[in-house]
Amino acid sequence: MKKNNRGVALLCLLALFLTSCTGTQAAPQEETIQFFAMDTIMSITLYGEDPRPAGLEAQALIERLEKLWSVTEEDSDLSAIQSGGGTPVAVSPETADLLEACLHMAEETQGAIDPTVYPLVRAWGFTTGDYRVPPAEELEELLDRVDYREVEVSVQENLVTIPQGMELDLGAIAKGRSSDLAVNLLQEQGITSALLYLGGNVHALGRKPDGTLWRVGIQVPGDAGGAYLAVLEVEDRAVVTSGGYQRYFQQGENTYCHVIDPATGLPVENDLSSVSVVGPNGTTCDALSTALFVLGREGALEFWRQSQMTWPEEEHFDLILLGHTEEITITPGLEGRFTLAPGYEDWELEVAHP
Ligand code: AMP
Ligand code: MG
Repeated sequence: MKKNNRGVALLCLLALFLTSCTGTQAAPQEETIQFFAMDTIMSITLYGEDPRPAGLEAQALIERLEKLWSVTEEDSDLSAIQSGGGTPVAVSPETADLLEACLHMAEETQGAIDPTVYPLVRAWGFTTGDYRVPPAEELEELLDRVDYREVEVSVQENLVTIPQGMELDLGAIAKGRSSDLAVNLLQEQGITSALLYLGGNVHALGRKPDGTLWRVGIQVPGDAGGAYLAVLEVEDRAVVTSGGYQRYFQQGENTYCHVIDPATGLPVENDLSSVSVVGPNGTTCDALSTALFVLGREGALEFWRQSQMTWPEEEHFDLILLGHTEEITITPGLEGRFTLAPGYEDWELEVAHP
């Protein structure tokens, strides 16, 4: 026994000696994979000894999820649920899990995010691009078909039931869940450093290979050139932004954005031009980005304060709220990690009270 211990100690010493002799390990390779999915350009930058296969697997995973959660493809899980006509429909475990997460966030936000909002989204033309302002009576009628409480999900049996006439849209949360699942996959493949851009969803795994924090740009609302207003430094965080400027149409004097308030059936129009949610979980951040954008500045801050008191510490999140007139509110957790970019230093930056 004693001899054995000595042997192990010797081996450890030898290993240490060899590592120090070989000096620093070869620098990890960088690989960037770009593709189009979920109606947006995505890119995954990852580091490792041979990182490309893991990156391609993550891409394949996201493309598979896109097929499951598409509202337009006929063989998607969402289309199958729609055609269930009030009877239980078998779906993949990923769909049942995501829908359950979405219903949970709908509960938390009192319906500000609601996966049954799809008939309204389509009526305004956001699926087809045939934009229009639906008449009040039509909205009234469609609102009757919007209520997340009528959706039934069994994650044990992977079954979903919705009433006849109801339709689902997971667009407010799908990219967040995709980044979570892609990051899990990369970690399983031994990747410890990666940055994923899935449209407005950024997800950082670990730190940069040199040990410094990832630097994520926060976009100037509505700037077509994609100028950055500020830089946020993060590690193991999702940064998810919802904004009226991301997709909208104009008619006359009015602008109508793609986030719909499920309480009124109308596109959101309030004191926010965007909400970024910074937290450990992409799914939660994505759901919140949409919901808090619906709630407006005070509603968003109130929700954040409540969550600070009632959510487990490891689920706490931070916010960046942009108004319409060069004002920014951040929550205290971002202090020291949020820096206004050159040219934007005169924007009014306020730190919210806990
Ligand atoms: P996001 O960019 O994450 O805020 O998601 C916006 C997308 O979610 C829209 O393009 C719609 O497809 C869908 N959507 C719009 N409003 C809502 C809402 N209040 N709840 C759930 N999904 C919504
Ligand atoms: Mg969202």
